Amino acid sequence: MTEKEVRHILGLSGGKDSTALAILMHKKFPQMEYFFCDTHKELPETYEYLDRIKARLGITITYLSAERGFDHWLEVYGGYLPSPKVRWCTRKLKIVPLEQFIGNDEAISYIGIRADEKRDGYISTKPNIKAVYPFKEAGLVHADIIRLLEESGIGLPSYYRWRTRSGCFFCFFQRKYEWVKLAEEHPDFFAEAVKYEQEHSDGRKFTWVQGETLTELLARKDSILTEHEKSLVRQQQLKPNKPLAQALSEVLDNEDDSLPCLICHL
Ligand code: SF4
Repeated sequence: MTEKEVRHILGLSGGKDSTALAILMHKKFPQMEYFFCDTHKELPETYEYLDRIKARLGITITYLSAERGFDHWLEVYGGYLPSPKVRWCTRKLKIVPLEQFIGNDEAISYIGIRADEKRDGYISTKPNIKAVYPFKEAGLVHADIIRLLEESGIGLPSYYRWRTRSGCFFCFFQRKYEWVKLAEEHPDFFAEAVKYEQEHSDGRKFTWVQGETLTELLARKDSILTEHEKSLVRQQQLKPNKPLAQALSEVLDNEDDSLPCLICHL
């Protein structure tokens, strides 16, 4: 296969890093194919952000959806909600549709992991997909990503006021503060997430957050918010010139450093 036939693909998650990567690459690789793995469980802010990216960069995004959605797979997995250790949702709703999209074509997958991060991202086990890391290669860090977003006029997604990761509204990688804010910003989604926990009437107990139900978590919302506020104040005292969005992101990372779903949250 010639170089010409190799496909160049870039997955947008609706988050800041993959967006900044699209900003960086769209002129260099006009043939780039942009895709978004749509679980149909995303926040409306994510879809709005994708529309903004399309309008600003003049690109087309292919929305990939699994043939069967989350609820079907939840049933197949016997009602077991996915968790950081048993992440069937990523496999069924994101990786399989992506691998079907690529098929057997030779493809270079551009991944928006920054030079100041220590993770690898989704690396396909398929030999025809090669992952590359332009931010790492160019030494670009968090501040560079923010600059790219600002200069492009795209900015940050609007959910950044209260949450730093895109992905399903019930994603178990959410921090406790983000669950509390979900209840405030999207009470209908929070109620739906609670319903998923409660739908098991045979005595089994499933929770999105380890050790407590969402109802229990929300009952102690005041202490969660107070703790978060304290961390934010501490952070701003340490670095007073830091923009609020960046301070918020760092505080949330300190509150919970579990690695998010890499294909979902870049
Ligand atoms: S965003 Fe979270 S819940 Fe959704 S597929 Fe990814 S890991 Fe699973």
